[in-house]
Amino acid sequence: MVTLTQKQSLTQPEVRKTVHYQIVIIGGGAAGITTASLLLLKNRQLDIAIVEPSDKHYYQPGWTLTGGGVFQLQDTVKPQKDLIPTGATWIQDRVVTLDPDHNAVITSEGIRVEYDTLIICPGIQIDWHLIKGLKESLGIDGVTSNYSPQYAPYTWELIKNFQGGNALFTFPNTPIKCGGAPQKVMYMADDTFRSKWGVRHSTNVMFFTPGSRMFAVPDYAKILEKVVQDRDLQVKFGHNLKEIKPETKEAIFDILDDSVPVGEISVKYDIIHVAPPQSAPDFIKNSPLAVPNNLYGWVDVDKETLQHNRYKNVFALGDASSLPTSKTAAAVRKQAPVVAANLLAFLSSAPLLSKYDGYTCCPLITGYDKTVMAEFDGYNCRPMSSFPLNPLKERWVMWLMKKHVLPWVYWNRMLKGERFEGDYIKFLQWR
Ligand code: FAD
Repeated sequence: MVTLTQKQSLTQPEVRKTVHYQIVIIGGGAAGITTASLLLLKNRQLDIAIVEPSDKHYYQPGWTLTGGGVFQLQDTVKPQKDLIPTGATWIQDRVVTLDPDHNAVITSEGIRVEYDTLIICPGIQIDWHLIKGLKESLGIDGVTSNYSPQYAPYTWELIKNFQGGNALFTFPNTPIKCGGAPQKVMYMADDTFRSKWGVRHSTNVMFFTPGSRMFAVPDYAKILEKVVQDRDLQVKFGHNLKEIKPETKEAIFDILDDSVPVGEISVKYDIIHVAPPQSAPDFIKNSPLAVPNNLYGWVDVDKETLQHNRYKNVFALGDASSLPTSKTAAAVRKQAPVVAANLLAFLSSAPLLSKYDGYTCCPLITGYDKTVMAEFDGYNCRPMSSFPLNPLKERWVMWLMKKHVLPWVYWNRMLKGERFEGDYIKFLQWR
């Protein structure tokens, strides 16, 4: 049997060209574009290349709203070429090999890109294949996931046309980006079912999770546990989805006791929203830059400075990093200035003084006009708030924030490396 690592080395491209940049960034997503912009704002002379294969840049938090029928998919995407900051070189290609001992990365087209410093932020890998039958079933006959732009519109098709039956929502047994997304979709679905005569009464809405709480931060978990109780949603803790059988419309779950499977159960579905297992991209897992002996293969960085623990000219942030906090774009917004400042310090042989404190935020949509703005310190699981309001509450104003303000901040402020605070007038003009 050929393992993934062997497969990758068998398809290693031949190097046909070598280039060199002072700073190379892998990934032009939330983290890559924001960090490049911050660096260039600080110093226009920096010689930066961004290696990014996609000509589209998605605002992924918008996929939850696409699945809930609030946004169209096109509201969540812009051409990548419009976002690459002036002064950076875009290498439109995919990194397949990391060679940190020789300060180089190799792309699928055989370009060897050498660097003085490297920033790694290619996001997270979606491991659809780890759930048997899932890949083949997606987008057909009731099986969907907001974790792909391809299927988020199908989620809304299913929800709005649902006539009753079993509506299942699942959370996987791996770390994921936006830990709240698997349940936000459920609350919007529940609202929609209730808005149609007779549908909710003939529906079982069920949430399956391998965990034992609705959220990692106990204070927010308490609120969500009340929400599911008030809405009469059935929550099955200690359940891990392992197979979809599309021909009989069954979902098969391992029943876990202290994370160990002790049995299995089959549940019939009419619709199922799957949050898939996730891990670091394989080219990181298979490299010396991954955390040693770690199942998920995250880039091994210091949790405060974001510098690699062994290769000092390498930094990482975002979903692919080992930072022990919740993986969100909101976290990236706070990580990027730390990477930019520390990388510049590193280049001038100064001490790395900038520190990331684990801040992250997951706007927990609990209905079409309600959101708990779950800001927290991911390193200590403590609630935080950027607003003069108690964060431990469902609020209409936070729904407006999620729907209108945060997308604007992302496109117009964060990706440009600019701050949002105090800039309400520009936002109002944009609307
Ligand atoms: P990404 O933004 O995913 O960017 C990674 C980039 O790397 C991509 O452009 C990709 O094409 C590129 N890349 C991949 N492989 C390679 C390679 N081999 N070589 C070069 N480039 C490569 N966050 C929030 O803050 N709030 C939310 O409400 C929220 N909701 C979400 C809902 C959903 C359904 C999803 C899917 C995500 C949500 N997130 C949310 C999470 C947020 O989108 C991510 O945490 C954020 O985008 C991470 O940024 P990143 O730059 O690390 O990765």
